Amino acid sequence: MTEELPNSKFVADQMLGSLARWLRMMGYDTVYDKKLDDASISGLARAEGRFVLTRDKELAREPGALLVESDDLDSQLKEVATRYGLKFRPELIRCSACNGDLAELTKDQAKEMVPEGAFISNDRFWKCGKCGKVFWKGTHWNGIMDRLNRLGLA
Ligand SMILES: [Zn+2]
Repeated sequence: MTEELPNSKFVADQMLGSLARWLRMMGYDTVYDKKLDDASISGLARAEGRFVLTRDKELAREPGALLVESDDLDSQLKEVATRYGLKFRPELIRCSACNGDLAELTKDQAKEMVPEGAFISNDRFWKCGKCGKVFWKGTHWNGIMDRLNRLGLA
């Protein structure tokens, strides 16, 4: 039996941009938009069933919200993962830039969209359905996995 992980969704406040990007890379739907004020964040959380991640004590009163106390990204990730029972979900990675869904490209499709070096050294490519950004597991990917492993999240 595979372990069932909760499909939690989040909205992060203006202070938590890095955390939001990492949650997206871990496979969790996380809204982060600097234009959202506190009222919009709580409205969105309620309308879409998202948990609020915030550094603000007022916003942290939202049902299920987490008051993120640390400044350190490692500690923040651990805090959120522990609270909501999150693990890296490689098949559900989202666009780190915009939170869009990623769709896998064929190698033919990718050829036109990525630098030649990346095309030669990778077999799998994904494109964001929202902003169009194309991703592959380049050299930075090892660093991402190192961090997730070190934190016990992978
Ligand atoms: Zn995107």
